[in-house]
Amino acid sequence: MENTQVQDMEEKGGEVISRHFIQREIDKDLKEGVYDHVCTRFPPEPNGYLHIGHAKSIILNSSLAKEYGGKFNLRFDDTNPTKEKQEFVESIKRDVEWLGADFGDRIYFASDYFDRMYEGAIKLIKKGKAYVSSLSAEQISATRGSFSEPGTDDPDRDRSIEDNLRLFESMKNGEVEDGAMVLRAKIDMASPNINMRDPVIYRVAHMSHHNTGDKWCIYPMYDYAHPVEDAIEGITHSICTLEFEDHRPLYDWVVRELEFENPPRQIEFAKLYLTNVVTGKRYIKKLVEDGTVDGWDDPRLVSIAALKRRGFTPEAIRMFIELSGISKSQASSDYAMLEYCVREDLKLKKPRLMAAIDPIKLVIDNYPEDQTEMLTIPNNLENEALGDRQVPFERELYIDRDDFMEEPPKKYYRLFVGNEVRLMNAYFVTCTGFEKDEDGRVGVVHCTYDPETKQGTGKEMPRKVKGTIHWVPAKEAVKATVRLYENLVDEEKGVYNEDGTMNINPDSVKVMDNCMIEPAIAGAKPYDAFQFVRQGFFNVDCHDSSDDNLVFNRIVSLKSSFKLPK
Ligand code: ATP
Ligand code: MG
Repeated sequence: MENTQVQDMEEKGGEVISRHFIQREIDKDLKEGVYDHVCTRFPPEPNGYLHIGHAKSIILNSSLAKEYGGKFNLRFDDTNPTKEKQEFVESIKRDVEWLGADFGDRIYFASDYFDRMYEGAIKLIKKGKAYVSSLSAEQISATRGSFSEPGTDDPDRDRSIEDNLRLFESMKNGEVEDGAMVLRAKIDMASPNINMRDPVIYRVAHMSHHNTGDKWCIYPMYDYAHPVEDAIEGITHSICTLEFEDHRPLYDWVVRELEFENPPRQIEFAKLYLTNVVTGKRYIKKLVEDGTVDGWDDPRLVSIAALKRRGFTPEAIRMFIELSGISKSQASSDYAMLEYCVREDLKLKKPRLMAAIDPIKLVIDNYPEDQTEMLTIPNNLENEALGDRQVPFERELYIDRDDFMEEPPKKYYRLFVGNEVRLMNAYFVTCTGFEKDEDGRVGVVHCTYDPETKQGTGKEMPRKVKGTIHWVPAKEAVKATVRLYENLVDEEKGVYNEDGTMNINPDSVKVMDNCMIEPAIAGAKPYDAFQFVRQGFFNVDCHDSSDDNLVFNRIVSLKSSFKLPK
């Protein structure tokens, strides 16, 4: 946990609420009258799908707006015409909505501000604060200096305002080739902060833009565009990640020189990193493009679309973001904590059914062949509101392969020849023998039951047994496919190979296509989630499942390595 040292504890009505440093900064701004309201934004670049890291920014920004009775904007930072796609715009909107962040009708596109950004550039030129440079990108970076050396002045630095206006106009009119000229802010070539050494603020790029088409052949650079976007929208607190800390002086310079009233201020926080998963749009994109995973919403990924498909809930993601805290110091959150959150969220909400994921037959030899008893079983012992269901009990059942052993080790309390166990919600059975298939694997286990041990009759059990196993009635069982997931990468084994490729876990998905589930599962629809007792939480896959063959994703197993810190 990374957050404790930077959080304040505040007492409100007897309840102790911890406040993170951004809340304290906003409190201070409101108290000192710097702002009289709060407006935040989430500014994704529509060049890929959102991931769990973005969820942190979305939840942080939207919760702050809500907490202070302010507004939260969704703004597509689409100033770079090369990479953007409508597909990503749609998916981002969907994901932000799904997370429950309320942007109302405040969806904006940075490209809608291109005119104002252009006017801003003219204003800077007129103030003598920007100039057209003919240096190439390489020359600009070669003359930028280093941490110890100041930069060298651009030969065009003292061009006249008139010439700058004329040249910038011809850049805009398409008379200049890509890369032949740029507009640079005139700040300080000797600044200790390299970002302030006359940064490029406009470049020429003869490219169509998904929103503005061919209207523009000059495009603003991020460090210029972003503060202008924020200021135009009346953002008060522009919250971004730590890598922009060194860019803050430039942010402040832009809003000051453009003379925005009540300009926004930038506050940085540490990115969310998760152990043992692939975050970072670029890396996810690569896995999608090279076919390692089957799309942006492959359930092994931590894109929001993948988490949704896999059965994670917005509530679980929020809980996780809250537990991981807001701080300025970089740290990784444990993937197991995300799993803990989804278990916590689902455990009372979802019915608990019995499923044999790797089934073998269990035959109760002394149970009458034509008899069926309907057992009434509560759907969730910890939540009566979920009601109960009828499950047929009969002579032939399925159990999980793991629940029988030919040669049991010590402390194995499940089925082995001579041992008695409880069939969950039903009877005690004693194992009498087993049969193997042609391939040498156990196929059928035999047992006898004791009619005096029926559960739920109120009668005291004649004796105790140590093991309880789940079962599925063979005749009524619904056959289904279950996909068991493991992490794509393992930090202990190394995320990257020597050649720079990713070291992908070859067993990241195991497909079990002969699972047997009790009949209550019939009719389950995409995204419906269940606990399969003793095994974990599973949901119906939204792409691959059909009424004829249900396909489930394991959201998370029941076992946990994570303990909530005290
Ligand atoms: P990536 O680092 O995955 O390539 P990005 O930063 O390029 O993502 P943007 O679309 O620019 O993606 O991000 C939109 C917002 O999300 C930015 O304000 C960015 O700071 C924030 N963000 C991105 N990654 C994280 C993260 N891991 N934790 C918290 N916020 C993040
Ligand atoms: Mg980015």
